Amino acid sequence: MTSATTAAPAPPEPATPTNADHSRAVAESARQTRWERRSFMKELFGGRLSLGLIHPHPEQDPEEAARAAPFLERLERFVAEEVDGDAVDRDRHVPDSVLEGLARIGAFGIKIPRAYGGLGLSQLSYNRALAIVAGRCASTAAFLSAHQSIGVPTPLVLFGTDEQKRRYLPRAASGELSAFALTEAMVGSDPANMATVAEPSPDGAHFVLNGEKLWTTNGPRAQIVVVMARTPTRPGVKGSRPISAFIVEMAWEGVEVAQECRFMGLNGISNGVLRFRDVRVPRENLLWGEGKGLKLALITLNTGRLALPAFCTASARGYLRASREWSGDREQWGAPIGRHDAVAQKLGRIAAETFAMEAVVELAAAMSGQGALDIRLEAAMAKLWHSEKGWELVNEAVQIRGGRGYETADSLRERGEDPVPLERNLRDARINMIFEGTSEIMRLFMAREAVDDHLAVAGAMIDPRAPTGRRVAALVRAAAHYAIWYPGRWLGWGRWPRYGDFGSLAGHIRYADRRSRKLARAIFHAMIRFGPRLEERQAVLGRIVDIGADLFVIAASCVRAMQLLRANPSDRTPVELADGACRLARRRIDDNFRRIFRNEDRRIRQLARGVLAGRYTWLEEGTTRMAEGTGR
Ligand SMILES: Cc1cc2nc3c(=O)[nH]c(=O)nc-3n(C[C@H](O)[C@H](O)[C@H](O)COP(=O)(O)OP(=O)(O)OC[C@H]3O[C@@H](n4cnc5c(N)ncnc54)[C@H](O)[C@@H]3O)c2cc1C
Repeated sequence: MTSATTAAPAPPEPATPTNADHSRAVAESARQTRWERRSFMKELFGGRLSLGLIHPHPEQDPEEAARAAPFLERLERFVAEEVDGDAVDRDRHVPDSVLEGLARIGAFGIKIPRAYGGLGLSQLSYNRALAIVAGRCASTAAFLSAHQSIGVPTPLVLFGTDEQKRRYLPRAASGELSAFALTEAMVGSDPANMATVAEPSPDGAHFVLNGEKLWTTNGPRAQIVVVMARTPTRPGVKGSRPISAFIVEMAWEGVEVAQECRFMGLNGISNGVLRFRDVRVPRENLLWGEGKGLKLALITLNTGRLALPAFCTASARGYLRASREWSGDREQWGAPIGRHDAVAQKLGRIAAETFAMEAVVELAAAMSGQGALDIRLEAAMAKLWHSEKGWELVNEAVQIRGGRGYETADSLRERGEDPVPLERNLRDARINMIFEGTSEIMRLFMAREAVDDHLAVAGAMIDPRAPTGRRVAALVRAAAHYAIWYPGRWLGWGRWPRYGDFGSLAGHIRYADRRSRKLARAIFHAMIRFGPRLEERQAVLGRIVDIGADLFVIAASCVRAMQLLRANPSDRTPVELADGACRLARRRIDDNFRRIFRNEDRRIRQLARGVLAGRYTWLEEGTTRMAEGTGR
């Protein structure tokens, strides 16, 4: 073993300021800064539990529900008869016949307006449709989601011209597959420095597209793709290196699939590297306008983000079923394993958190259907919470099934055992924390919005680069603002008998009311304590965001339980599940509050710097390099 003292001492500083500043500036310029509608989560971060925005639970428009019902029934029948998740996983392919069948019943145009050949259904119905498919086969569901949540339909409906909509939406609705191409080899979470370029032709009639996009889901089997590319700096176009979005047809000359990628899970998806060589893209295919491509991409992702939580929830229901059946049937040490406390704790938790997942996703989709609220934070929260919770729950379910949890469905089937696909579910679930915005980026996105109101009031005050005059003016403004704001985050009645209409769940809502004010105060304290360096305290920000997410989980679980109780007063099971979900969330919230400022972050960060500096490489001795052949 090499002595630790031989290691290089000085840890390097992270990314150069110029790169980081550029990335931040580009991300800021592409941020949706306007809040034209109220946002439950935004108000929560500001210390207000605006329960009136979500309670009573918004109901689905009955006319739309009636239109959705026959479609969902057909879809359910089709999926039960035609979609075999194990076969897709084994063959690494979703058969054309499945995609064609889904197209015939309208599953590729669920949210596309009827005027353009789609079904014109709501986010709620879309989520339900995706859940039906995802419950059977996550890869097949990914085709529908990549096409409709982020592929051509969403940006086209939001930003397309009438002519673009007329040209492409009917094609998309009829099942021509579409995809979304943002990521590149050097550009993942930080698209500011993308290399794909689109140069206008001398006559301005078209753009010449060159570059390569990595991991485009649906890409290899798609007909139409939204591609983000850098366009030249021009007067009147925002940004020093503007990014624009284009609709590109895969059949055009110069477009090729350079590689089909393979992954740990989602074996049946079609995903690849798309290469563009001197592709002539007509100017009419520019979406929204030059320089607006990154904003378009981020708004598309924000809008499409509820689909993934719907997937996770559908999968969690499957984990619950598999866990319940096995926990009851399997006897060890003289009792069903579900009666042993260690397994019972897992089982109860899976039930409670599956209920919470369903509550959040149903509520967020219903809120989006109403159109009166801005749900971008709820969607981001659901993406973050559901993907992480889904991963934890599948892990628990695998543990409950012991060796059979680790065994493939085919292998179980061969022995005549129930082919429960938890092994595949676990592999399929891992990606959810990575694509459509990693968990880390989701936390940063939400944290940015959580501190936004404070930055608006006091940003200049804590900005060391601001001139003295501006800082003094900001100080005066902030003093006046916080003289009223801060005491307001202490006052308020979050105790008995408030929220009595929630019955036995009222205590949880009262807790959320009190903790939302505490959260706002904690955000304020963090700003005062860290000033401009708060941005670098990602662990602190992460805890703040997680508290906000769990407060939403409490509110959504209680509101959903009351909705279900109203519909069927004799069934109190939703209240029992909501109570369990709230108790678990409260424990996490209290832990996070305790650790916001009293934690081991600094020490762990120092260790990480040491790791990067090579101080502990002796610990790696004897391991084989995993990146053989890459030249590293
Ligand atoms: C199966 C699959 C399907 C995909 N489908 C598509 C698609 O259809 N279209 C498309 O455009 N892309 C797609 N992607 C790309 C996907 O969205 C990216 O993988 C994701 O955005 C992360 O980028 P990256 O992998 O380059 O990771 P990086 O951005 O390199 O990040 C690596 C790690 O660092 C963390 N990190 C990065 N920046 C920060 C920061 N500032 N602060 C804290 N942590 C940070 C990340 O969270 C992550 O944990 C797909 C990827 C996969 C694997």
